[in-house]
Amino acid sequence: MKQKPNIPLSVPNLSLDILDNVKECIETGWVSTGGRFITEFEKKVAEYTGVDDAVGVQSGTAALHLAFQILGVEVGDEVIVPTVTFIATVNPITYLGAKPIFMDCDDSLNMDLDKLESFLEDECSLTENGLINEKTNNKIKALTVVNVFGNPIDMERVIEIAQKYNLKVVEDAAESLGSFYKGGKYKDRHTGTIGDIGVLSFNANKILTTGGGGMILSNDKDILERARFLSVQAKTNPLYFEHDEIGYNYRLTNIAAAFGTKQIDKIEDFVEIKKRNYELYKKELDKIEGLDVLPFNENTRPNYWFYSVIVDKNKYGLNRDELLMKLNDIGIQARPLWGLISDQKPYKDFEAYKIDKARHYVDNLINIPCSTNLTKEKVYQVIEMLKKFKIQK
Ligand SMILES: *Cc1c(COP(=O)(O)O)cnc(C)c1O
Repeated sequence: MKQKPNIPLSVPNLSLDILDNVKECIETGWVSTGGRFITEFEKKVAEYTGVDDAVGVQSGTAALHLAFQILGVEVGDEVIVPTVTFIATVNPITYLGAKPIFMDCDDSLNMDLDKLESFLEDECSLTENGLINEKTNNKIKALTVVNVFGNPIDMERVIEIAQKYNLKVVEDAAESLGSFYKGGKYKDRHTGTIGDIGVLSFNANKILTTGGGGMILSNDKDILERARFLSVQAKTNPLYFEHDEIGYNYRLTNIAAAFGTKQIDKIEDFVEIKKRNYELYKKELDKIEGLDVLPFNENTRPNYWFYSVIVDKNKYGLNRDELLMKLNDIGIQARPLWGLISDQKPYKDFEAYKIDKARHYVDNLINIPCSTNLTKEKVYQVIEMLKKFKIQK
């Protein structure tokens, strides 16, 4: 029997020179939440993304938790979030006793900013106590936007809206390290560096990985200082173990950072490969009737993290789930979009504003292999299979 192609969706691309750093961790004993690789990694990421400084933590989720807390989200508050995202964007809001309000996506998969504006205009009122949700009488403190699959959202518009309605902005850039704007007000600015706080993740499926890890980006020194303080159990006096506040054990470890300092050096090579493979797929798959590769936003340099293909059953012959099954059966790992967060059991009773387009994408989208160690030959194998599976009429 012919061997299966065995092409994973998105796997780490690690190099053995990381071992030099790990060896140093072992020899010096600096394996936990202190050590030179942590500060070195923070400096490198800050320099690459163009912020003054950054704070390394143990996951993107931890970074988001700190971000919302530092921006003042408290029990009873509400935070506007996209329904199309990984659930980690939303969970930290509930850790703080606050509530999400879900927004629909547009055709870029990012938050629909027209709908956001009509929600704010029609359903909320701006008072001297801040923005109030008329339905619940709760305060809406913040807005979180996600650069879904690495595609930069229109931050110029996000910031305008946030300023008009007095909202803090958390940029969930967990998927978009390496993406930046090529025009407009934020030309040359990286995703995650424009809102009040930006968040990165170095989980194993992201463009670069430290095993597990995350980072907080900001141009505000007080915010970064506060994040660093809260991430190490809020030690007021480390010698005498004094704590004036409740903190967390969220600091990035030196072992994780030992991976990070090597991985960040490769980021532009990784983007290069992701771009090459994306363009190959786009050129070939757009020729297949019934398959449509989603574009990235114009005037941006995306990191091309994940590739999305929309399956039109009437033209392709198979529906999305049939195609998913066939691909996975032959060893080409593909997956659907996340289930909408506003449909998940813990969140289905929260406010969701006119969710419509997101349903179309949940039902018809697949993500196809996109690792940074994916060869051209493997890309062609995926393309061949997608051609073969089409049912000729
Ligand atoms: C991966 C991811 C996160 C969470 O990051 P972890 O490091 O896994 O905690 C948050 N938001 C989005 C959009 C993600 O893709």
